[in-house]
Formats: sequence, C-alpha cells, structure tokens
Amino acid sequence: MRTILSQRLLRRPCAACRHGERLQPEEIARIGLDSRLELYRPTGCSECDFTGYSGRIGIHEALTVDDGIRAVLGGTASAIASAAVAGGTTFLYEQGRRLCMTGDTTVDEVVRVLGEAD
Ligand SMILES: [Zn+2]
Repeated sequence: MRTILSQRLLRRPCAACRHGERLQPEEIARIGLDSRLELYRPTGCSECDFTGYSGRIGIHEALTVDDGIRAVLGGTASAIASAAVAGGTTFLYEQGRRLCMTGDTTVDEVVRVLGEAD
C-alpha cells in the first residue's frame, strides 16, 4: 500500500441566510477552534428551502506511506499522526476547521460529518 485516501462532503451554508445566528463560544470549542471567533449558523430561508445549506464542498486527506510512516507503524496513533503531518498530510478535521473559518461550512456540519474534536 502506498497511499490512503479519505474524502467527505460538507454542506455549504446558504449565501442568503449564512449569518443567521452567532455561535456561542462553547459551540465553537466543539471542534477545537478558538472560541473567540465570530462564527455563525444559517437559519434557513426560502432560498435554501429552510435547510440553511446550499451546495457541498469536498475535503480530501491523502496519507502517503513513506519511510517516515513506515518507521512509526505499530507505534501510537499520535506518533503516526505526527509522521503524517511531517510528510505533508492535512487531516480532514483540520480542513473542516479551516472551512469554518472561511465561512465555507459550519461547525454543526463538521460535527455532523466528522464528529466532535478529541
Ligand atoms: Zn437560506
């Protein structure tokens, strides 16, 4: 095995109602982001059939099994994760966090698709 691929689709917030409700700090902390960020939850409107979402965006994670990974196979999950990051992998969860900060998805959506932060 040379590369392990994972992908998920996250719903995009509706452009018309994306800033419907400001999140509470504890909601933002659910995915490990700085709770002082100004993030929103869409409320739903006639443009999005009252779902709050319109369209999707893909996130992808590629873990190449290189010498750095082989050296830590059989070790702890955190050792493997560190080697993966060193090898250039950006994990799905980190991509979800980034998309929340750019307004391309929501904290609720990251939790729905990827679960709570560890
Ligand atoms: Zn809407």
